[in-house]
Amino acid sequence: MEKVVIIGSGPAGLTAGLYAARARLSPLVVEGMERGGQLVQTLHVANWPGHPGVAKGADIVDAMRRQAEDAGVRFKMDVVKSVDFSGEAKRLFTLMGDEIEAETVIVATGAGVSKTNAPGEAKYFGRGISACLVCDAAFYSGRRVVVVGEGAPAVGAKRYLEGVGATVAAVLAPSEIAEFEGDGQRLAGVALSPSSASGSGTVAADGAFLVTARLPETKFLGGALELDPKGHVVTTDTVRTSVPGVFAAGDCARPRYKQAVVAAADGAIAALAAQEYLSR
Ligand SMILES: Cc1cc2nc3c(=O)[nH]c(=O)nc-3n(C[C@H](O)[C@H](O)[C@H](O)COP(=O)(O)OP(=O)(O)OC[C@H]3O[C@@H](n4cnc5c(N)ncnc54)[C@H](O)[C@@H]3O)c2cc1C
Repeated sequence: MEKVVIIGSGPAGLTAGLYAARARLSPLVVEGMERGGQLVQTLHVANWPGHPGVAKGADIVDAMRRQAEDAGVRFKMDVVKSVDFSGEAKRLFTLMGDEIEAETVIVATGAGVSKTNAPGEAKYFGRGISACLVCDAAFYSGRRVVVVGEGAPAVGAKRYLEGVGATVAAVLAPSEIAEFEGDGQRLAGVALSPSSASGSGTVAADGAFLVTARLPETKFLGGALELDPKGHVVTTDTVRTSVPGVFAAGDCARPRYKQAVVAAADGAIAALAAQEYLSR
């Protein structure tokens, strides 16, 4: 039986791991598909305390991971597919077919990109449309792309793409997109809606990167915890969920203020709360 299992290896999960390891709870972090979390998708983080200037997101999470590992965190490359929180022992079932039992669980699964549902999106997803900068940006060196999103993530994505030599033809809000167009095989452009603030007609592009509003990655919980209408884990006292012994931290539990430093702080609080729970 594990004392603390942390689901997710972004800023929230890694910080929870660091705190739990320093409390000698020998935490296990199940890393998920996106090792290091969302921050690896940006080359320009300018608001991580202690890093004057601009830092690469991947460098920040690599350093966090090393620090956590040095403190004694164990990592498992796997994905939690479902959970059973009905008993005293919390049970996690993974993609690799393992079952993990734990006294406490910290859910730190972050948020994933939401689709625009514009016509053509399903057809060209993976054929020019991507939701993973780190995976796909390099393919677009010397080519034209659009970024679909708003706010800090969209600005970060534009810089990332320009950093790998792509030309960002436009940054579009999802509501500006009438259709993703192509030749049936690959994306060729994005038709703008009449209300678009970016002009009219079609923006020619070989690639479109979705960095739209990120919705919490909580489907795998399957009703085991109380969620809000958008799927965020409902918490009280910052990290306590509807099930004693199960805590939530970071973007998966935050309808607002989805930021790395906030997620890291939540992770620390969750680990301290888990420690308190175990010591009772
Ligand atoms: C392009 C971009 C630029 C950004 N720029 C900034 C910035 O400049 N400054 C800033 O403060 N914030 C920025 N953010 C936001 C910041 O990255 C997030 O707020 C932060 O990463 C949230 O941390 P988290 O640990 O809660 O979740 P995440 O970073 O999303 O990590 C979630 C983790 O959970 C894992 N996971 C998910 N589901 C499962 C599962 N079922 N089983 C196991 N593991 C699972 C994933 O693999 C991942 O490791 C940016 C985000 C993006 C996308």
